[in-house]
Amino acid sequence: MIVPVEVHRARAVERLVEGIATSDGAGVKLTRVLSGALQRRLDPFLMLDVFGSDDPQDYLAGFPDHPHRGFETVTYLLTGRMRHRDSAGHEGLIENGGVQWMTAGRGVIHSELPEQEHGVMEGFQLWLNLPARNKMTAPWYRDFGSAEIPEYVLDGGTRARVIAGTSNGVAGAVTRSITEPLFLDVLLPAGGSFSSDLPAAHNAFVYVVRGTVSVAGMTVPARRMAILENAPDADGVALAAAEDSRAILVAGRPLAEPIVQHGPFVMNTQEEIRQALEDYRDGRLA
Ligand code: MN
Repeated sequence: MIVPVEVHRARAVERLVEGIATSDGAGVKLTRVLSGALQRRLDPFLMLDVFGSDDPQDYLAGFPDHPHRGFETVTYLLTGRMRHRDSAGHEGLIENGGVQWMTAGRGVIHSELPEQEHGVMEGFQLWLNLPARNKMTAPWYRDFGSAEIPEYVLDGGTRARVIAGTSNGVAGAVTRSITEPLFLDVLLPAGGSFSSDLPAAHNAFVYVVRGTVSVAGMTVPARRMAILENAPDADGVALAAAEDSRAILVAGRPLAEPIVQHGPFVMNTQEEIRQALEDYRDGRLA
């Protein structure tokens, strides 16, 4: 049931981030919007990759077998078909509005390969850090078809898909107790608006997929991430759109623990990274 929450002081935009065009996997073209220094600012989130192309040469190669340790990967596919297989024996196909949530924990080797040879492939991969005490947890995997993602519609026609966390009283597909991640896909019609409660201490950002979204009065164009300020008296987020627009809203409670990343491994110390590399080399990672 929707329980719309009144927002008295909406989060303002701290700054806009454009992201960096790069490629990963076996040559998938993507835009890395969150990485490096932003890992501290947007703790507990470690990475946001945005991919979107109708040219198969940009995505066909996919992401063949590769390892991960120490965090979770959340893949949200707006359009396209992608198959996942991993060393823990999990396999799944996500497509058109589906989500794949994988907890790498102590170690997983997986592949993420397109199951299409033409057409549009568009979506996101978000990396959510694990607290130190859970980094070596057992791997976990689940995929959610589009129909399994809870949704609600606000007065005015804005539709929100709740991938993780709780928004306006609607619980999402996944909840996590320590970082309490919120991951929403918000579809605003022309003239539509959206608001949701959000704890002041949680780090948060909005990424505009298409259209133009006003965030607490500041205009954010498509393909930009708006980092939201952490004001102690801010109690939520408010979006509005003058044209048909779409944005994701991501937020979570910071872990405030050391972050040491080496490619697909994210741990708390260099020693743990050295161990991960050794475990992978010796076939003990997964
Ligand atoms: Mn991966």
